[in-house]
Amino acid sequence: MNTMHKPKKLYLINPKTPYPSYAGAEIFENSGFLPALFSADLSTTTVAALMSPHFEVTICDERITPVDFDIDTNFVALTGQILQWERTKEIAKAFRQRGKVVIIGGSYASLSYEKVRPYCDILVRGEIDEVANDIFSEIAEGNWKDEYVGTVPDLANSPLPRWDLYPHNRALIGSIQVSRGCPFQCEFCDVIQYVGRKQRHKPVPRILQELDNLYALGFRRTFIADDNFTVHRKKAKEILLALKEWNEKREGQKMAFSTQLSLDAARDDEMLRMLQEAGFGGVFIGIETPNADSLKEVKKFQNVGVDSAEKYSVLWNTECLLLEV
Ligand code: SF4
Repeated sequence: MNTMHKPKKLYLINPKTPYPSYAGAEIFENSGFLPALFSADLSTTTVAALMSPHFEVTICDERITPVDFDIDTNFVALTGQILQWERTKEIAKAFRQRGKVVIIGGSYASLSYEKVRPYCDILVRGEIDEVANDIFSEIAEGNWKDEYVGTVPDLANSPLPRWDLYPHNRALIGSIQVSRGCPFQCEFCDVIQYVGRKQRHKPVPRILQELDNLYALGFRRTFIADDNFTVHRKKAKEILLALKEWNEKREGQKMAFSTQLSLDAARDDEMLRMLQEAGFGGVFIGIETPNADSLKEVKKFQNVGVDSAEKYSVLWNTECLLLEV
């Protein structure tokens, strides 16, 4: 008799959003092609890596693949942001009616947990990188708690995303996260509520390992999915130098990068030069308003006294394509 332990099955879903994304990749499907995404999803692939020692994981990114409500699975896990909440509820209800155990985590579940609680069997709040092994071993053993709360992890312990489980060939650009957190205090920002105001970074060798993986998968464009990539100047420059040197070693096409940063980066000529040399072709910047009183009111103090138009043109002239958010 085969006494080998069979891993439990877990269906990990990133629900679709109700509106087209601003990157507009929906145009592919609407033009008769297969559905495509602007950037590959880091949340499901990272969480899948944390789950994999305990489960046989199947990822569904609903923006490109419909949810299979008849899938053979023991557990269903949902992640997502506020925009995805209505769809998350629908999916959670449907699977619970089918007798599946539903787990919900992610940024919305972390910040609005009292709203999420009624829709799941297991609620997971916060960053779980350091406690995932305990969480998922308890769940796999059928010995779970109703709620788990994460920690503030050292990103050196964050796993390599499981791109092998993800339909990465449907994404136009790859994704990598090199840091979490931002020291600023914009009052409308959920990032600092969720991951805090102390910026934490992955070690450079780990960043390059992730880039090697994306390059091997065929990506030649990568979004650095940090909320404020340049805010820790010294660390950002260390990473930019490593990206430049890594890119110089590519024999074929170089990797082009994009990211999000705050307007104060335009004060730093060396930073702008290093962004350009590393291969950055686009940055997203939150300007919101040039009105100093409004900036103070929303605690966006880093932009008070900054001439937005002048800094905008500095970035433009650096040939970083500028998009406002
Ligand atoms: S600069 Fe960006 S990430 Fe930082 S607090 Fe403001 S909105 Fe949030």
